[in-house]
Amino acid sequence: MKKNISTLKLPHYKSTASCQAVRMAVPKEVLLPMNMHSGQEAVPIVQVGEHVTVGQLIAREEGRNSAPVHASVSGTVKAIEPYAANGRKTTAIRIESDGKQERCPDLKLPQPTNLDEFLQCVRDSGVVGLGGAAFPVWAKLAAAQKNHIQTVLINGAECEPFITSDHRVMLECGELIQKGIELLKQFLQSEEYIIGIEKNKPDAIEALTERFKDDPAVKVMPLSSVYPQGAKQVLLYNATGKVVGPGQRLASLGVIIINVTSLVKMAEYFATGMPLVERIVTVDGSAVKEPKNLIVPIGSSVRDLVEACGGLKSEPGKLLFGGPMMGKTVATMDASILKATNAIVIMDRKDAKKSEPSACIRCGRCVAVCPLGLNPTAFAHAMELENEDERAAILQKEQVSLCMECGCCSYVCPTHRPLAENNSAARRFIRGWESAHKEGGK
Ligand code: SF4
Ligand code: SF4
Repeated sequence: MKKNISTLKLPHYKSTASCQAVRMAVPKEVLLPMNMHSGQEAVPIVQVGEHVTVGQLIAREEGRNSAPVHASVSGTVKAIEPYAANGRKTTAIRIESDGKQERCPDLKLPQPTNLDEFLQCVRDSGVVGLGGAAFPVWAKLAAAQKNHIQTVLINGAECEPFITSDHRVMLECGELIQKGIELLKQFLQSEEYIIGIEKNKPDAIEALTERFKDDPAVKVMPLSSVYPQGAKQVLLYNATGKVVGPGQRLASLGVIIINVTSLVKMAEYFATGMPLVERIVTVDGSAVKEPKNLIVPIGSSVRDLVEACGGLKSEPGKLLFGGPMMGKTVATMDASILKATNAIVIMDRKDAKKSEPSACIRCGRCVAVCPLGLNPTAFAHAMELENEDERAAILQKEQVSLCMECGCCSYVCPTHRPLAENNSAARRFIRGWESAHKEGGK
């Protein structure tokens, strides 16, 4: 990676920062997709008509980097049906709630005695990267089987505008953060734990500094409020001075990065035996009447969350899962809250209006702002080439696979070029091209 860790000052719009997370009323039903993690889909193990309880395993993990799914309400399985509201086609389990939130009687407190057992428990918890990446946490921690992990970086940067769910977790779940770190100390035996928090959250910095004041292994590190401070490569560089190269694993540098909410949910499983069935979601945006932080069962619909926020005050123009920089547009209010949904942002029509792109004026701002020193205009030119091998050669040379789709380049472009969308298409192309060439033995 070229070192160009730049600074993009964005308006924060964190109007919910002081809103304590409140529990939403139990929804009438939840719809739980099988692809709420980055790897292979989970496989349903319940039947239509079956009674299920909260925390019950309803879909087992299957294949690479998969994760199990647990019932987030007690009630009856009404359907196992096709689902595509969040973009990718999958299967989802629909559960009609009985309103009782009855705990699954089979849940037990995990009591691992060594690293392998600990990893199995984390695997059973269903916890994935809850800051958005959705990579199973056990798979990340499993790096400790091969490499000594000296430093655990706990990501509390939360640099995207609007989102405050990690912020609330840091203020409201300090004990679980401590428990999570104790677990990692016991089983990973890492020497150093750095909690990276942007300076726009002084109360969280203060609370955690106070909590860990007698623990020399834990360092609370205030970070500049610049976007994308929470991106893996940026956080790594700013917190440790280390740089991860193309194709290099973080663990080979003796580091892993875990999102603070993921750490808390992992710790909660060890403290209560309850796997991941609910989370805090920030609900905000110009169309939302009363922005809030809500504790919601996974699989609740956007509609349920919006109702819990007093409804909409204007016609929605855009619904985002996540923030305005890296969030994904979703077309329907029936979409389910996924494990990694940290926020939904609903903009009114005025805020959602896109500026029309015009020709590139070669100002170079997109290159100058890229934290990794990448050249998005080169990606755009490559994507115009008909010859796929030539296209791939340029994209590889320009290291498109390093792009983290942070959107900084699009944000600064004065002619509104759709650079982030193009980068995303280029990354998809190169993944497909490389896997086809690997399979073809070329
Ligand atoms: S989205 Fe743009 S700014 Fe962000 S890493 Fe990719 S090329 Fe760089
Ligand atoms: S910022 Fe926009 S106009 Fe400027 S070089 Fe990049 S693509 Fe062209």
